[in-house]
Amino acid sequence: MTSSRALAPFQTSVFSVFSRLARDAGAVNLGQGFPDFDGPDWILDAAHQAMRSGHNQYAMSHGATRLRRAIAGDNERRLALAYDVETEITVTSGATEAVAAAMLGLLDPGDEVLTFEPYYDSYPVCVAMAGATLRAVPLRAPTFTFDRDELAAAFARKPKMFVLNTPHNPTGRVLRRDELEFLVDCAQRAGTWIVSDEVYEQLVFKGHEHLSPAQLDQERTIRVSSAAKTFSLTGWKVGWACGPSDLMDGLRRAHQSLVFSTAAPLQDAIAQALEQAPERGYYDEFLANYTTRRDHLQTTLEGARLDPIAPEGTYFTMARYPGDETPNAFARRLIEEKGVASIPPESFYEHKAHAQGLIRFAFCKTLVQLNAARERLRG
Ligand code: PMP
Ligand code: GLN
Repeated sequence: MTSSRALAPFQTSVFSVFSRLARDAGAVNLGQGFPDFDGPDWILDAAHQAMRSGHNQYAMSHGATRLRRAIAGDNERRLALAYDVETEITVTSGATEAVAAAMLGLLDPGDEVLTFEPYYDSYPVCVAMAGATLRAVPLRAPTFTFDRDELAAAFARKPKMFVLNTPHNPTGRVLRRDELEFLVDCAQRAGTWIVSDEVYEQLVFKGHEHLSPAQLDQERTIRVSSAAKTFSLTGWKVGWACGPSDLMDGLRRAHQSLVFSTAAPLQDAIAQALEQAPERGYYDEFLANYTTRRDHLQTTLEGARLDPIAPEGTYFTMARYPGDETPNAFARRLIEEKGVASIPPESFYEHKAHAQGLIRFAFCKTLVQLNAARERLRG
Protein backbone atom coordinates (compact mmCIF):
# COMPACT_ATOMS: atom_id res chain seq x y z
CA MET A 1 0.00 0.00 0.00
CA THR A 2 1.70 3.19 -1.17
CA SER A 3 0.45 6.73 -0.92
CA SER A 4 1.54 10.25 -0.07
CA ARG A 5 1.88 10.99 3.64
CA ALA A 6 -1.20 13.21 3.42
CA LEU A 7 -3.38 10.37 2.18
CA ALA A 8 -1.88 7.56 4.26
CA PRO A 9 -4.52 7.77 7.03
CA PHE A 10 -7.43 7.28 4.62
CA GLN A 11 -8.63 3.84 3.56
CA THR A 12 -10.95 2.74 0.77
CA SER A 13 -14.27 4.58 1.18
CA VAL A 14 -16.85 2.85 3.38
CA PHE A 15 -19.31 3.17 0.47
CA SER A 16 -17.14 1.03 -1.81
CA VAL A 17 -16.42 -1.47 0.96
CA PHE A 18 -20.07 -2.00 1.92
CA SER A 19 -21.38 -2.06 -1.66
CA ARG A 20 -18.91 -4.85 -2.35
CA LEU A 21 -19.90 -6.75 0.80
CA ALA A 22 -23.56 -6.34 -0.22
CA ARG A 23 -22.87 -7.65 -3.74
CA ASP A 24 -20.87 -10.61 -2.50
CA ALA A 25 -23.56 -11.58 -0.01
CA GLY A 26 -26.52 -10.95 -2.35
CA ALA A 27 -27.81 -8.46 0.24
CA VAL A 28 -30.42 -5.73 -0.31
CA ASN A 29 -28.18 -2.68 -0.52
CA LEU A 30 -29.52 0.14 1.67
CA GLY A 31 -25.92 1.30 2.15
CA GLN A 32 -24.31 3.45 -0.54
CA GLY A 33 -26.52 6.37 -1.49
CA PHE A 34 -27.33 5.87 -5.16
CA PRO A 35 -30.77 5.20 -6.62
CA ASP A 36 -31.28 1.67 -7.98
CA PHE A 37 -33.51 3.19 -10.68
CA ASP A 38 -32.76 5.45 -13.63
CA GLY A 39 -33.16 9.19 -13.96
CA PRO A 40 -36.10 10.44 -16.07
CA ASP A 41 -36.33 9.36 -19.73
CA TRP A 42 -36.67 12.94 -20.95
CA ILE A 43 -33.24 13.78 -19.49
CA LEU A 44 -31.67 10.59 -20.89
CA ASP A 45 -33.14 11.54 -24.29
CA ALA A 46 -31.61 15.01 -23.95
CA ALA A 47 -28.17 13.44 -23.43
CA HIS A 48 -28.57 11.22 -26.54
CA GLN A 49 -29.62 14.25 -28.50
CA ALA A 50 -26.66 16.28 -27.21
CA MET A 51 -24.24 13.53 -28.28
CA ARG A 52 -25.86 13.30 -31.72
CA SER A 53 -25.78 17.05 -32.25
CA GLY A 54 -22.09 17.64 -31.73
CA HIS A 55 -21.66 18.35 -28.00
CA ASN A 56 -18.73 15.98 -27.79
CA GLN A 57 -15.57 18.07 -27.42
CA TYR A 58 -14.24 19.87 -24.35
CA ALA A 59 -16.72 22.28 -22.85
CA MET A 60 -15.42 25.61 -21.58
CA SER A 61 -13.41 24.97 -18.44
CA HIS A 62 -15.84 26.81 -16.16
CA GLY A 63 -18.84 25.15 -17.81
CA ALA A 64 -21.07 25.32 -20.88
CA THR A 65 -22.87 28.65 -21.17
CA ARG A 66 -26.30 27.02 -21.42
CA LEU A 67 -25.81 25.12 -18.18
CA ARG A 68 -24.40 28.11 -16.29
CA ARG A 69 -27.46 30.12 -17.43
CA ALA A 70 -29.78 27.33 -16.27
CA ILE A 71 -28.02 27.18 -12.88
CA ALA A 72 -28.36 30.97 -12.52
CA GLY A 73 -32.08 30.70 -13.39
CA ASP A 74 -32.60 27.93 -10.84
CA ASN A 75 -30.88 29.94 -8.06
CA GLU A 76 -32.93 33.01 -8.89
CA ARG A 77 -36.26 31.18 -9.05
CA ARG A 78 -35.98 29.11 -5.89
CA LEU A 79 -33.67 31.02 -3.57
CA ALA A 80 -33.80 34.59 -4.95
CA LEU A 81 -30.01 34.46 -5.37
CA ALA A 82 -28.50 36.31 -8.33
CA TYR A 83 -25.16 35.07 -9.71
CA ASP A 84 -23.20 36.43 -12.68
CA VAL A 85 -23.16 33.70 -15.32
CA GLU A 86 -19.62 34.52 -16.49
CA THR A 87 -17.76 35.01 -13.23
CA GLU A 88 -19.75 33.48 -10.38
CA ILE A 89 -20.76 29.98 -11.55
CA THR A 90 -18.48 27.00 -12.25
CA VAL A 91 -19.59 23.59 -13.49
CA THR A 92 -17.65 20.75 -11.85
CA SER A 93 -17.46 16.96 -12.03
CA GLY A 94 -19.94 16.47 -9.23
CA ALA A 95 -20.23 18.24 -5.90
CA THR A 96 -17.29 16.15 -4.74
CA GLU A 97 -15.00 17.94 -7.18
CA ALA A 98 -16.53 21.34 -6.35
CA VAL A 99 -15.68 20.88 -2.66
CA ALA A 100 -12.20 19.57 -3.52
CA ALA A 101 -11.53 22.47 -5.91
CA ALA A 102 -12.70 25.00 -3.31
CA MET A 103 -10.26 23.53 -0.78
CA LEU A 104 -7.31 23.05 -3.13
CA GLY A 105 -7.88 26.44 -4.73
CA LEU A 106 -8.37 28.50 -1.57
CA LEU A 107 -6.48 26.86 1.31
CA ASP A 108 -2.81 27.03 2.26
CA PRO A 109 -0.86 24.49 4.28
CA GLY A 110 -1.53 25.03 7.96
CA ASP A 111 -4.96 26.63 7.46
CA GLU A 112 -7.77 25.42 9.64
CA VAL A 113 -11.09 24.14 8.30
CA LEU A 114 -14.12 23.72 10.52
CA THR A 115 -17.12 21.49 9.89
CA PHE A 116 -19.81 19.55 11.72
CA GLU A 117 -19.39 15.88 12.46
CA PRO A 118 -20.63 13.50 11.21
CA TYR A 119 -19.39 14.84 7.85
CA TYR A 120 -19.30 13.60 4.29
CA ASP A 121 -16.27 11.36 3.99
CA SER A 122 -14.49 13.24 1.20
CA TYR A 123 -14.09 16.42 3.30
CA PRO A 124 -11.23 15.30 5.58
CA VAL A 125 -9.39 13.75 2.64
CA CYS A 126 -9.52 16.97 0.60
CA VAL A 127 -8.53 19.03 3.63
CA ALA A 128 -5.50 16.75 4.03
CA MET A 129 -4.62 17.06 0.31
CA ALA A 130 -4.63 20.84 0.77
CA GLY A 131 -2.26 20.46 3.75
CA ALA A 132 -4.84 22.03 6.03
CA THR A 133 -6.25 20.80 9.35
CA LEU A 134 -9.84 19.76 9.99
CA ARG A 135 -11.70 20.37 13.23
CA ALA A 136 -15.25 19.18 13.79
CA VAL A 137 -18.05 20.31 16.07
CA PRO A 138 -20.49 17.47 16.81
CA LEU A 139 -24.13 17.21 15.84
CA ARG A 140 -25.19 14.88 18.64
CA ALA A 141 -27.82 12.15 18.34
CA PRO A 142 -30.76 11.97 18.58
CA THR A 143 -31.54 15.62 17.66
CA PHE A 144 -28.34 16.24 15.68
CA THR A 145 -28.27 19.88 16.75
CA PHE A 146 -25.07 21.73 17.65
CA ASP A 147 -24.10 23.38 20.91
CA ARG A 148 -23.81 27.12 20.29
CA ASP A 149 -21.05 27.69 22.82
CA GLU A 150 -19.05 24.84 21.33
CA LEU A 151 -19.45 26.25 17.83
CA ALA A 152 -18.58 29.79 18.93
CA ALA A 153 -15.47 28.48 20.70
CA ALA A 154 -14.37 26.66 17.55
CA PHE A 155 -14.87 29.84 15.49
CA ALA A 156 -12.74 31.76 17.98
CA ARG A 157 -9.75 30.02 16.37
CA LYS A 158 -10.64 31.92 13.16
CA PRO A 159 -10.76 29.00 10.74
CA LYS A 160 -10.17 29.89 7.10
CA MET A 161 -13.18 27.90 5.91
CA PHE A 162 -16.34 26.31 7.30
CA VAL A 163 -17.74 23.39 5.34
CA LEU A 164 -21.46 23.15 5.84
CA ASN A 165 -23.78 20.45 4.53
CA THR A 166 -27.54 21.06 4.66
CA PRO A 167 -29.69 18.99 4.16
CA HIS A 168 -27.19 16.87 6.02
CA ASN A 169 -25.80 13.46 5.12
CA PRO A 170 -25.90 11.16 7.12
CA THR A 171 -28.20 12.62 9.82
CA GLY A 172 -31.02 13.92 7.61
CA ARG A 173 -31.01 17.26 9.46
CA VAL A 174 -32.11 20.42 7.65
CA LEU A 175 -30.67 23.40 9.48
CA ARG A 176 -33.25 25.93 10.65
CA ARG A 177 -33.01 29.64 9.95
CA ASP A 178 -31.96 30.51 13.54
CA GLU A 179 -29.19 27.88 13.43
CA LEU A 180 -27.90 29.22 10.11
CA GLU A 181 -28.08 32.80 11.34
CA PHE A 182 -25.97 31.89 14.35
CA LEU A 183 -23.45 30.06 12.18
CA VAL A 184 -23.19 32.85 9.60
CA ASP A 185 -22.80 35.40 12.37
CA CYS A 186 -19.89 33.36 13.81
CA ALA A 187 -18.33 33.15 10.33
CA GLN A 188 -18.65 36.91 9.82
CA ARG A 189 -16.97 37.69 13.15
CA ALA A 190 -14.14 35.25 12.40
CA GLY A 191 -13.75 36.25 8.72
CA THR A 192 -14.38 32.63 7.69
CA TRP A 193 -15.49 31.57 4.20
CA ILE A 194 -18.38 29.11 4.00
CA VAL A 195 -18.43 26.24 1.52
CA SER A 196 -22.02 25.00 1.59
CA ASP A 197 -22.71 21.54 0.21
CA GLU A 198 -26.41 21.53 -0.70
CA VAL A 199 -26.67 18.45 -2.92
CA TYR A 200 -29.93 17.36 -1.19
CA GLU A 201 -31.57 20.79 -1.54
CA GLN A 202 -34.56 19.31 -3.42
CA LEU A 203 -35.03 16.56 -0.85
CA VAL A 204 -36.59 18.42 2.06
CA PHE A 205 -39.69 16.91 3.63
CA LYS A 206 -42.91 18.67 4.57
CA GLY A 207 -42.58 20.91 7.60
CA HIS A 208 -38.97 21.86 6.80
CA GLU A 209 -37.41 24.40 4.48
CA HIS A 210 -34.08 24.48 2.70
CA LEU A 211 -32.10 27.64 3.35
CA SER A 212 -28.65 28.39 2.01
CA PRO A 213 -26.14 30.45 3.99
CA ALA A 214 -25.69 32.29 0.69
CA GLN A 215 -29.13 33.82 1.34
CA LEU A 216 -27.70 35.34 4.52
CA ASP A 217 -24.22 36.25 3.25
CA GLN A 218 -23.66 35.65 -0.45
CA GLU A 219 -20.22 37.31 -0.50
CA ARG A 220 -18.77 34.81 1.97
CA THR A 221 -20.36 31.64 0.60
CA ILE A 222 -19.62 29.12 -2.11
CA ARG A 223 -22.87 27.25 -2.69
CA VAL A 224 -22.32 23.76 -4.07
CA SER A 225 -24.94 21.54 -5.64
CA SER A 226 -25.26 18.70 -8.09
CA ALA A 227 -27.56 16.92 -10.51
CA ALA A 228 -26.77 13.56 -8.87
CA LYS A 229 -29.54 13.35 -6.29
CA THR A 230 -32.05 15.79 -7.78
CA PHE A 231 -32.27 13.94 -11.08
CA SER A 232 -31.25 10.43 -9.90
CA LEU A 233 -28.15 10.54 -12.11
CA THR A 234 -25.30 9.93 -9.67
CA GLY A 235 -23.15 8.34 -12.38
CA TRP A 236 -23.14 11.47 -14.53
CA LYS A 237 -21.07 13.49 -12.05
CA VAL A 238 -22.36 16.92 -13.02
CA GLY A 239 -22.17 19.44 -10.19
CA TRP A 240 -21.60 23.15 -9.72
CA ALA A 241 -20.36 25.87 -7.43
CA CYS A 242 -21.75 29.42 -7.17
CA GLY A 243 -20.04 32.21 -5.29
CA PRO A 244 -18.35 35.60 -5.44
CA SER A 245 -15.87 35.99 -8.28
CA ASP A 246 -12.79 36.29 -6.05
CA LEU A 247 -13.51 32.92 -4.42
CA MET A 248 -14.52 31.42 -7.79
CA ASP A 249 -11.12 32.45 -9.09
CA GLY A 250 -9.27 30.15 -6.66
CA LEU A 251 -11.75 27.34 -7.20
CA ARG A 252 -11.42 27.60 -11.00
CA ARG A 253 -7.62 27.49 -10.86
CA ALA A 254 -7.85 24.13 -9.10
CA HIS A 255 -10.72 22.90 -11.30
CA GLN A 256 -8.89 23.56 -14.56
CA SER A 257 -6.03 21.31 -13.53
CA LEU A 258 -8.08 18.63 -11.79
CA VAL A 259 -10.47 17.90 -14.66
CA PHE A 260 -10.31 20.97 -16.92
CA SER A 261 -13.96 20.49 -17.92
CA THR A 262 -16.96 18.27 -17.19
CA ALA A 263 -18.57 15.87 -19.73
CA ALA A 264 -19.98 18.16 -22.43
CA PRO A 265 -23.10 16.27 -23.60
CA LEU A 266 -24.16 15.68 -19.98
CA GLN A 267 -23.84 19.41 -19.27
CA ASP A 268 -26.24 20.11 -22.13
CA ALA A 269 -28.72 17.51 -20.86
CA ILE A 270 -28.60 18.84 -17.27
CA ALA A 271 -29.15 22.37 -18.61
CA GLN A 272 -32.33 21.07 -20.23
CA ALA A 273 -33.28 19.28 -16.99
CA LEU A 274 -32.98 22.49 -14.94
CA GLU A 275 -34.82 24.50 -17.60
CA GLN A 276 -37.77 22.12 -17.89
CA ALA A 277 -38.13 20.51 -14.43
CA PRO A 278 -40.48 23.14 -12.92
CA GLU A 279 -42.97 23.19 -15.81
CA ARG A 280 -42.97 19.38 -15.92
CA GLY A 281 -43.90 19.26 -12.22
CA TYR A 282 -40.79 17.15 -11.73
CA TYR A 283 -39.76 18.36 -8.26
CA ASP A 284 -43.18 17.76 -6.66
CA GLU A 285 -43.31 14.23 -8.00
CA PHE A 286 -39.71 13.60 -6.92
CA LEU A 287 -40.42 14.68 -3.35
CA ALA A 288 -43.70 12.73 -3.18
CA ASN A 289 -41.91 9.54 -4.26
CA TYR A 290 -39.23 10.01 -1.63
CA THR A 291 -41.77 10.80 1.08
CA THR A 292 -43.38 7.41 0.38
CA ARG A 293 -39.99 5.69 0.55
CA ARG A 294 -38.96 7.46 3.73
CA ASP A 295 -42.19 6.40 5.45
CA HIS A 296 -41.79 2.85 4.17
CA LEU A 297 -38.28 2.47 5.57
CA GLN A 298 -39.28 4.16 8.81
CA THR A 299 -42.00 1.54 9.37
CA THR A 300 -39.59 -1.27 8.46
CA LEU A 301 -36.96 -0.11 10.93
CA GLU A 302 -39.49 0.42 13.70
CA GLY A 303 -40.79 -3.12 13.06
CA ALA A 304 -37.23 -4.42 13.33
CA ARG A 305 -36.74 -2.54 16.62
CA LEU A 306 -33.99 -0.45 15.05
CA ASP A 307 -35.18 2.90 16.42
CA PRO A 308 -34.92 5.16 13.36
CA ILE A 309 -34.38 8.92 13.75
CA ALA A 310 -36.79 10.48 11.22
CA PRO A 311 -34.89 12.57 8.63
CA GLU A 312 -36.00 16.13 7.78
CA GLY A 313 -34.31 15.88 4.39
CA THR A 314 -31.95 13.72 2.24
CA TYR A 315 -32.56 10.06 1.42
CA PHE A 316 -30.90 8.69 4.56
CA THR A 317 -32.17 7.61 7.94
CA MET A 318 -29.95 7.13 10.95
CA ALA A 319 -31.08 4.38 13.29
CA ARG A 320 -30.01 3.25 16.75
CA TYR A 321 -29.36 -0.41 17.32
CA PRO A 322 -29.29 -2.13 20.70
CA GLY A 323 -26.18 -3.59 22.30
CA ASP A 324 -22.60 -2.37 22.40
CA GLU A 325 -21.15 -3.73 19.17
CA THR A 326 -19.31 -1.17 17.07
CA PRO A 327 -21.33 0.16 14.10
CA ASN A 328 -18.90 -1.61 11.74
CA ALA A 329 -19.40 -4.97 13.44
CA PHE A 330 -23.17 -4.51 13.62
CA ALA A 331 -23.45 -3.52 9.94
CA ARG A 332 -21.39 -6.55 8.89
CA ARG A 333 -23.54 -8.84 10.99
CA LEU A 334 -26.70 -7.34 9.47
CA ILE A 335 -25.43 -8.30 6.03
CA GLU A 336 -24.46 -11.82 7.09
CA GLU A 337 -27.49 -12.65 9.20
CA LYS A 338 -30.26 -10.64 7.58
CA GLY A 339 -29.00 -9.93 4.05
CA VAL A 340 -29.44 -6.16 4.38
CA ALA A 341 -26.59 -3.69 3.89
CA SER A 342 -26.33 -0.34 5.69
CA ILE A 343 -23.44 2.07 6.31
CA PRO A 344 -21.57 2.20 9.64
CA PRO A 345 -20.77 5.88 10.21
CA GLU A 346 -17.37 5.74 11.97
CA SER A 347 -15.55 7.27 9.00
CA PHE A 348 -17.82 10.33 9.21
CA TYR A 349 -16.46 11.21 12.66
CA GLU A 350 -13.23 12.62 14.09
CA HIS A 351 -14.41 11.46 17.51
CA LYS A 352 -15.33 7.86 16.68
CA ALA A 353 -17.13 7.41 20.03
CA HIS A 354 -19.91 9.70 18.78
CA ALA A 355 -20.74 7.12 16.11
CA GLN A 356 -21.41 4.39 18.67
CA GLY A 357 -24.84 2.80 18.39
CA LEU A 358 -25.71 4.42 15.04
CA ILE A 359 -26.06 3.04 11.51
CA ARG A 360 -27.27 4.70 8.33
CA PHE A 361 -29.84 3.34 5.88
CA ALA A 362 -30.53 4.78 2.41
CA PHE A 363 -34.04 4.75 0.96
CA CYS A 364 -33.20 5.79 -2.61
CA LYS A 365 -34.29 2.31 -3.68
CA THR A 366 -37.31 0.84 -5.51
CA LEU A 367 -40.29 -0.27 -3.43
CA VAL A 368 -39.45 -3.82 -4.53
CA GLN A 369 -36.09 -3.54 -2.77
CA LEU A 370 -37.58 -1.74 0.23
CA ASN A 371 -40.17 -4.53 0.52
CA ALA A 372 -37.42 -7.13 0.30
CA ALA A 373 -35.54 -5.34 3.10
CA ARG A 374 -38.75 -5.33 5.18
CA GLU A 375 -39.16 -9.09 4.74
CA ARG A 376 -35.56 -9.75 5.68
CA LEU A 377 -35.49 -7.46 8.70
CA ARG A 378 -38.76 -8.78 10.13
CA GLY A 379 -38.06 -9.98 13.65
N1 PMP B 1 -21.88 15.81 -0.72
C1 PMP B 1 -22.70 15.02 -0.02
C2 PMP B 1 -23.15 15.45 1.32
C3 PMP B 1 -23.10 13.79 -0.56
O1 PMP B 1 -23.89 12.99 0.14
C4 PMP B 1 -22.65 13.43 -1.83
C5 PMP B 1 -22.97 12.15 -2.49
N2 PMP B 1 -23.76 11.31 -2.09
C6 PMP B 1 -21.82 14.29 -2.51
C7 PMP B 1 -21.43 15.47 -1.93
C8 PMP B 1 -21.29 13.93 -3.87
O2 PMP B 1 -22.02 14.49 -4.88
P1 PMP B 1 -21.60 14.23 -6.39
O3 PMP B 1 -22.02 12.84 -6.71
O4 PMP B 1 -22.32 15.27 -7.16
O5 PMP B 1 -20.14 14.37 -6.46
N1 GLN C 1 -22.91 10.14 -1.17
C1 GLN C 1 -23.22 8.76 -1.23
C2 GLN C 1 -23.56 8.30 0.16
O1 GLN C 1 -23.48 9.04 1.07
C3 GLN C 1 -22.08 7.94 -1.74
C4 GLN C 1 -21.24 8.55 -2.76
C5 GLN C 1 -19.99 7.77 -2.98
O2 GLN C 1 -20.02 6.55 -2.95
N2 GLN C 1 -18.90 8.44 -3.15
O3 GLN C 1 -23.90 7.17 0.33
